[in-house]
Amino acid sequence: MIEFGLLLVVVLALYLMECAVWIPAGSLAFLLCSPLDHSLKLIVRPRPIERPSLAFSNPFVPWRAIMVCNPPRIWCSGDGIVSGCADFEQPSTKNGGNVIGNFVPFEEIRRLESEGKNLYVNGAKFASLGSEAEATFLAKWLQGLKSRAKQERAAEIYKEIKRKLAPERAAQVLSYSAQKIYSLGLDCLILTVATFLAMPFVVWRWGLSLTWPFLISFMIFNVGLIGWEFHSGQHDLYPQAKEARWMSMAMILLSPPAAMRATRYLAKDIAWDFHPLAMAAAAGSKGDFELLASWFLRDLTFSAELPVGGNLRAIESATWCRERFRLAVIDLVRKRGLDETALISPRIRESGLVQSYCPRCLCQYTVISGVCEDCGGISLLPHPMKNRGLANC
Ligand SMILES: [Zn+2]
Repeated sequence: MIEFGLLLVVVLALYLMECAVWIPAGSLAFLLCSPLDHSLKLIVRPRPIERPSLAFSNPFVPWRAIMVCNPPRIWCSGDGIVSGCADFEQPSTKNGGNVIGNFVPFEEIRRLESEGKNLYVNGAKFASLGSEAEATFLAKWLQGLKSRAKQERAAEIYKEIKRKLAPERAAQVLSYSAQKIYSLGLDCLILTVATFLAMPFVVWRWGLSLTWPFLISFMIFNVGLIGWEFHSGQHDLYPQAKEARWMSMAMILLSPPAAMRATRYLAKDIAWDFHPLAMAAAAGSKGDFELLASWFLRDLTFSAELPVGGNLRAIESATWCRERFRLAVIDLVRKRGLDETALISPRIRESGLVQSYCPRCLCQYTVISGVCEDCGGISLLPHPMKNRGLANC
């Protein structure tokens, strides 16, 4: 009986660990609050200095799962493709929003492949994306882009940017995904309640030596059922993510705590084909949408000085693509009845000593001029006269 109690404590600790989701540096996270109205809550916000974090979901409600969202990591123009970060897995802490990584012109692209989360160009690793589904899609999409004329590529890229920022499409995907997660979550809840409530009662009442064959059979049957339902849901939501599917399946089938929280593996990449702002517009609160719109507008509008002597074609490609994204974000913001200028305006002064502010992170400074080191050297702007009032803090 004591051994069974110890085993239960270990399973409980592993289960609580399964409720945590690792959020890579630069990524955001939403909590899927309710499967009925598939509403979202922003739980990991963008930060001027990118760093990884942990997000936790409610251990008593398995369908309240966490979605990880990734802002674009690759910029492309009719000329070529640029990885938006020198190394996605270890991003610079001072990226200023315009780090120019690898650049490959379309005329030099011979092979485009994906393996796991990685995108390979001409056999060499070009970038690491947020998910296997995204890497697979990008390899195919860029192949199609390469086969077009340069002028046609620009129109196709802007069309794709608008597609990633479409809230109506995001709402449809979210609604469909939430149903799958809710259905899987019910099975997860049955296994969780059985493990932590029903099984201890049965063992206490009739003893472990008499009941263990029934308990093991029940556990295997339930874990198998969850594995089958997960496989079916994952295949529907991410047909191209074969490697991720089998890795998650192995975790679920070999670890009952992972099976109790199988919704985590299904929900994580729901937003792989969307810009985070589209998800916030589709199902987030007004406050979350405004926060993200403000951040992405500032990040796309203000950037650090471009590297002197860098690859001019790379800089032009990244700048062109960032501007298309900015225009698409402004379009979405206006459709929601908001003013883009008001969204990026500085906050009320925190003290009478404030003279300037960083237009990207909105940090306030007491010097008249200088640069924001957190944002990679963005030039400070004078704090406007009209906001000379002090913050009430
Ligand atoms: Zn800054």
